[in-house]
Amino acid sequence: MQIIKSPKKLKNLSSALKQKGKRIGFVPTMGALHQGHLSLVDRARKQNDIVIVSIFVNPLQFGPNEDYSRYPKTWLQDKANLIKRKVDYLFFPSVEDFYSGTFDSVISAGAQGLQNKLCGKHRPGHFDGVTTVVAKLFHLTQADHAYFGQKDLQQSCIIKKMVKDLDFTQKIKVLPIVREKDGLAMSSRNQYLSEKDRLRALSLSLTLKQMKKEFRHSKKSVAEIRRAGTQSLKKSVDRVDYLEVIDPETLESIKNRQKKIAIAVAAYVGKTRLIDNVIIRNS
Ligand code: AMP
Repeated sequence: MQIIKSPKKLKNLSSALKQKGKRIGFVPTMGALHQGHLSLVDRARKQNDIVIVSIFVNPLQFGPNEDYSRYPKTWLQDKANLIKRKVDYLFFPSVEDFYSGTFDSVISAGAQGLQNKLCGKHRPGHFDGVTTVVAKLFHLTQADHAYFGQKDLQQSCIIKKMVKDLDFTQKIKVLPIVREKDGLAMSSRNQYLSEKDRLRALSLSLTLKQMKKEFRHSKKSVAEIRRAGTQSLKKSVDRVDYLEVIDPETLESIKNRQKKIAIAVAAYVGKTRLIDNVIIRNS
C-alpha cells in the first residue's frame, strides 16, 4: 500500500490509472477505523481494480464546540488494517496540504431540503463541510465507485443529491450499518464512552429495535410509536437531539405508515453525540 500525502500527486496518479482503464473504488474516512469502515473497504476491494482509502479529519465539518481537536487517532492500527485488506493507496494529507492557504470555496448540496433536517438542524455548516471535502476528494481520486455507510443516512442522501445535481460521475454505494454484538452501531466516537456510558449508549439501538417491532407487530400510529420511543430513550441518555420517523430518501418526517420508513436518532451520552438509524421495509 502506497501512502500519498500530496493532493497533486493523487490527482496525477488517478489520471494515469484512468488512462490505463482501471476501475477505481474510493472509501473516504476520518480514521480510527473499525469494522464498519472496513466493510466498505472490503466491498470496494471486490468491485474495483484499484482501491483508494482516505484518512482525513476534515476541519470544515466540525463546529467550534465539537470534538475536532480530540478526534480519535489510531494511525498504526489503521495502516495495518488497510494493508491487510490489500488497499492500493492510502491518501493521508495534512490540513495545510489539502486546503492550501487561500482555499475559500463551499459546495452546498440539498441546501433547501436535505440539509435543514435531523443533524443539519443541530450542526450548522456540518454538511457543507462534508460535501466540500467529498467533492474535492472525488475530483482527486477520479473514483468510479464511492462507498458510504448507512450509519450516516443524511450524509449519504446529501452526497447522492450533490452527485445528481452537479453531474458528478461517481456511483454512490451505501452499505448497511455494522454493529457490535450487543447492537451498538460501530463508531469511532464510541472510544469516548466510559464503561457506564457505553451501557447507556445501548439505549439508542434498543429504542430503534423496539420501535421497529412496534411498526411490524402493532397497529399503533407513527406519532404514538415515536412518543413512546422518545420517552424511553430520555430515561437513559443525557439529551435527545432528535428521534424522527422519516422517509429514507427525502428525510421528511412522516405522519402515516408507508412502504419504506426510516427511524433516525441522535443523542448525547455524557459529552458524546451518537447517531443511529434503522430502515423498515413493509411488504
Ligand atoms: P467516518 O470516518 O466516521 O467519517 O466514516 C467514514 C465512512 O464509514 C462513512 O461513510 C460512514 O457512514 C461509514 N461508517 C461509519 N460507521 C459505520 C458503521 N458502523 N457501519 C457502516 N459504515 C459505517
